[in-house]
Amino acid sequence: MSATPETLDSYLSGRWQRGQGIESTLIDPVSGDELATVSAKGLDLNSALEFARREGQRSLRNMNYAERGKLVGAVADVLTANRARYEAIAIANSGNTKMDAAIDIDGGIGTLKYYARLGAGLGEARTLLDEKPVRLAKAENYQAIHLMVPRRGVAVHINAFNFPGWALWEKAAVSLLAGVPVLAKPASATALLAHAMIKDVIAAGALPAGALSLLCGSAGGLLEALTSEDLVAFTGSADTAVRVRGHPNVVAKNVPVNIEADSINAALLAPDASPAGAAFDAFVRETVREMTVKAGQKCTAIRRIFVPAEMADAVADALSGKLKTTKVGDPRQADTRMGPLVTRAQQAAAFEGIRRLACEAAIVCGGADAPELDGIDKAKSAFVAPTLLRLKSTDNARAVHEVEVFGPAATIVPYRGEQDAAALIARGGGSLVASVYGEDKDFLARMVSEIAPSHGRILAVDPAIATAHTGHGIVMPQCNHGGPGRAGAGEELGGLFGLRFYHQRLAVQGSSELLASLQATAASMH
Ligand code: NAP
Repeated sequence: MSATPETLDSYLSGRWQRGQGIESTLIDPVSGDELATVSAKGLDLNSALEFARREGQRSLRNMNYAERGKLVGAVADVLTANRARYEAIAIANSGNTKMDAAIDIDGGIGTLKYYARLGAGLGEARTLLDEKPVRLAKAENYQAIHLMVPRRGVAVHINAFNFPGWALWEKAAVSLLAGVPVLAKPASATALLAHAMIKDVIAAGALPAGALSLLCGSAGGLLEALTSEDLVAFTGSADTAVRVRGHPNVVAKNVPVNIEADSINAALLAPDASPAGAAFDAFVRETVREMTVKAGQKCTAIRRIFVPAEMADAVADALSGKLKTTKVGDPRQADTRMGPLVTRAQQAAAFEGIRRLACEAAIVCGGADAPELDGIDKAKSAFVAPTLLRLKSTDNARAVHEVEVFGPAATIVPYRGEQDAAALIARGGGSLVASVYGEDKDFLARMVSEIAPSHGRILAVDPAIATAHTGHGIVMPQCNHGGPGRAGAGEELGGLFGLRFYHQRLAVQGSSELLASLQATAASMH
C-alpha cells in the first residue's frame, strides 16, 4: 500500500471519472493508516445509466445465454490471474485473515464460474421457458406458455462493506448471464477491492462497453435516476433497505427491488446430541467458526445459539474454551485466526450492541472493551474480542432476538422442548439461515418443518455429514440466498432461479404452432 491515499475513480459512461473532493477515507483497521479516498460528488449518474441502457443492453441483448456465460467465465479468469493482489487488499482494507479473504475472493470467482457453466447449459437460447404449454379452451391448438425475457434496463447493485468481492460478483454473474448490464456501487468503507477487480476486468476487455459500470462514493442521486426498466439489488442494513425500497422515485416507477438485509441467525443443538458425539462436535466447531470468520461480519453468521437448558453449561464451556484460545491480532501474522472489524465506527456499533445484549445476558467471555493485543494500538485499531453471552431468562428477553451485533458475538439461548425452541427462533422475525445439529433424523426433520417459514435456508447436520457439509454461513450459488421478514424478503442465487429477478415473466397465448416457434429459442428453467 502506498503512503499517499489513492483516489478511487468511478467507471461510468465507458470511462474512468473522478468525483469532487473527498466523501470517505478508507483505512487499515489494524494500523489506522489511510489507504484511499472516494467521492461520487458531481458525477453524472443520469448519463451513466443512459450509457449502460444503450450500449450495455445493445451488446448483451445480441448474445445468447452461452455467449454471455463465456463473458462471465472470462471475468472469472481475469480475477483468478490477479488473485494475490486482491488478497493483499482484503487484508489491508478489510482486516481479513487469508481465510476470510479467500471466502470473499474465491467465493466470488467460484460463483462466476458456476454461472458461466449454467450459461453453457442454456446454450443458444435467448429466452427461458418457465412452464410447459397449457391448453386454455376446447380447441386443442389454443394454448399458453410462460416465457421469461431479459429486462431492458440496468441492474443497480448496492453492496454492503463486508463482502466487497463476493457480493459484487454473485450479483453481477447472474445479471450479466441474464443480459442485464450492471452498475455496481460498493460500500465506501471497503471499496478498494471492488475497484481493483473492476479495473482489471475493464483493462482486460473482458466485457463489452456499458456492460459493467462502477460507482465509488455515496449513492447520491442514483435512485432518482432510475427508470421503470431498471432494477435494484441491495445488500446492507435494514435501515438503509427501508430508505432504498421507499425512495419516492423507486416507488413511483415501481422499480423492482431485491433486498438482502440483516438477520439474527440461529443454530440449534438437539436434545439427543451427547457431548461426546459427532453432532455436538459439529455444532461447537461451526458456531466458533461462524463467530470468528471475518470477525463475525457475515450477514449469515450465527447470532443465537439454541441449546437444551440442561446442556447450556456444557455448551458454554466448550464454546468459551475455543473462543478464548482463538488468536486475535494483525491478520498479516501467520498464527492470527481473527482480525479486526472494518472500521472503528463498526467497532463502536458492535460494543453498543454487546452492551444491549448484556442487559439481559451474562458475558461468558469477551466483552464491550477493545482487547489488549501485542503491538496493536487500541486507539487506532478496530478489534472486538470473540464474545459469548448467555441469556439469563428466555421469557422476557428481547434484545437477543432484535439486536444484530455485526461482529464476533453470539448469545446462548437455553430452550425447554421443541415447541419452545421453534417459538424462540421465530422471534428473530425472519432470517437468512439456521442450522440444526443432532443424531435423531426425525427430530431434525420436525425442526426443519417448524422453522422453515421464517427462513431462506436451513442446514441440517446429522453425523453422516458432520464433517462434509459446506458450512452454516457459506452461501452456495446452487442454493437460495435471502430470507423473509427482517432479512429483507429477497431471493438471490439458487441456480437458474436467480435469473428470474432479471427477467420479465409473461404468459403468451396463441396457437400451438406459434408457441412452438417461440419455444424453439427458449431454454427450460426446469
Ligand atoms: P449499509 O450502511 O446499509 O450500507 C449498504 C450500502 O448502501 C452501502 O453501499 C452504502 O453506501 C449504501 N447506502 C447507504 N445509504 C444509502 C442510500 N440512502 N441510498 C442508497 N444506498 C445507500 O450497510 P453496511 O454497514 O455496509 O453493511 C452491514 C449490514 O449489511 C449488516 O446489517 C448486515 O447484516 C447486512 N448484510 C446483509 C447481507 C445479506 O446478504 N443479507 C450481506 C451482507 C451484509 P456507503 O457505504 O457509501 O454509505
